[in-house]
Amino acid sequence: MITLQGKGVSAGVARGRLFFLTRTSLSVEKRLINDTKKEIERFNMARQTAAEQLDVLAATMVDRIGEENALLFEIHRMMLEDTDYCDPIIELIKTEKVCAEYAINTAGSRLAQEFADMDDEYMKARAVDVYDISKRVIEILSGGKQAFAMSDEPVILATDDFTPSETAQLDRNKVLALVSRQGAANSHTAIFARTMGIPAIIGFGAFLSSDLSGKEAILDGDTGVLYLDPEPEIIKKLEAKKEELQKEKERLEQMRGKPTITKSGKLLKLYANIGSVSDADAALAGDAEGIGLFRSEFLYLGRSDYPDEDTQYESYRKVLEKMGDRQVVIRTLDIGADKQADYFDLPKEENPAMGMRAIRICLTRSDIFKTQLRAIYRASVHGNAAIMFPMINSLDELRRSKELAKAVREELAAKDISFKADVPIGIMIETPASAVISDILAKEADFFSIGTNDLTQYTLAIDRQNDSISTFCDTHHEAILRLIKLTCDNAHNAGIWCGICGSLGADPTLTKTFVEMGLDELSVEPSRILKLRALVSEC
Ligand code: PEP
Ligand code: MG
Repeated sequence: MITLQGKGVSAGVARGRLFFLTRTSLSVEKRLINDTKKEIERFNMARQTAAEQLDVLAATMVDRIGEENALLFEIHRMMLEDTDYCDPIIELIKTEKVCAEYAINTAGSRLAQEFADMDDEYMKARAVDVYDISKRVIEILSGGKQAFAMSDEPVILATDDFTPSETAQLDRNKVLALVSRQGAANSHTAIFARTMGIPAIIGFGAFLSSDLSGKEAILDGDTGVLYLDPEPEIIKKLEAKKEELQKEKERLEQMRGKPTITKSGKLLKLYANIGSVSDADAALAGDAEGIGLFRSEFLYLGRSDYPDEDTQYESYRKVLEKMGDRQVVIRTLDIGADKQADYFDLPKEENPAMGMRAIRICLTRSDIFKTQLRAIYRASVHGNAAIMFPMINSLDELRRSKELAKAVREELAAKDISFKADVPIGIMIETPASAVISDILAKEADFFSIGTNDLTQYTLAIDRQNDSISTFCDTHHEAILRLIKLTCDNAHNAGIWCGICGSLGADPTLTKTFVEMGLDELSVEPSRILKLRALVSEC
């Protein structure tokens, strides 16, 4: 038996034969040409055809991978028009008098490498998108599709890396799981695999050799382990896990559409945490009763400049529209510490987690904050929005933040721009200071959501980013539980609701404790909702 460890990016157990995808090679030989003008025209014609193909893909893939995911093909189309992509190719054709196929392959690979070398994980993952569009245009030019030699029986598909186009177009009936040498957890390939419910493991490196093709295999997308020629006990263990997962899935499905209610009749709200517009689809699929934490930072990360008001407005509007009547709590910018965007030009700090982050940036650079607030207020007419400020430590910070929100409302009103004036404004309780003075804060906030990730970090003085001290991190520490209880009691005394949006909210061993404390809402990963509803119903 051979055991390979990779990175599980889409859960599930799959068993079958490993099939290494061999692609028929593309024609990218270096052909010298005389007529550069004609060659550039060939390139432009092929780009045009590729754009038409991508339009069709964007429209037809909606059912399979969801509207937001299918947008990727529109992005690919835009990339094809981008001068950063086209100019170096045209330059190569002109200066080196090479055929378009070769120029695309050379310049495209260089650009993909530039992305791959970036520090930002999101930008890194875009390398495969550049490869994907280059492949498409070369295929058009060389008159042949780079076909997969696919197996007739359903298989565990292996390759170097899957392009988003390949993953989206896979025949679900022929693919038991995906495994690859490379890849990133936040790549579109991983996202598509999760959306389509295909178990996937990436990052095996050279260990995943094509010599292994044809071997019997079983894998666990949860733990990221792939077994080849598995021993009978492993098969037995994983088959049992598969069956268990299936049974659990069926049991949890019974919870769909039902209210979250304890045996004694206490209602709780089970909301979802999301970090992008497309996550709203996952929230709905997971049966979320609302969005308890929309991490708006995604709009700012992986970019070279600030997102403008309209860009932000569009994202908030889309999420609000998708969620309909359900509440959407939009957390304002929480950049800094582990979430860095270069264009903010934040100073290098000794202790970034205790430095210029979140509301501190917003109160220092109110122009950025007001742009975001304007976008949220404008979008508020499209659904049931709430605003939440992160890292509030004092009444003064809350008041100054609310003042800026008020100023934005006044500016919008003066310009006759429609918005909802009564959007609830709540705060995150994620520092010990805010928990301790939550009685004071509760008088001027509409709700509390406890950010247990930071609350734990700051209460226990344990850096959440530092794996080497994680063994010291007792997430059930009595100090944390007391701060949660104190916050919840103070919220209720002031007549406002209190929830948890940090990871602890999804801890099934604490569900009963949270119900007993009287928490009103838990906001968790969409996939946890049905499970938590089942647990609450047993309380
Ligand atoms: C938290 O701190 O618990 C939280 C939800 O915010 P984030 O994890 O985004 O810092
Ligand atoms: Mg936090």
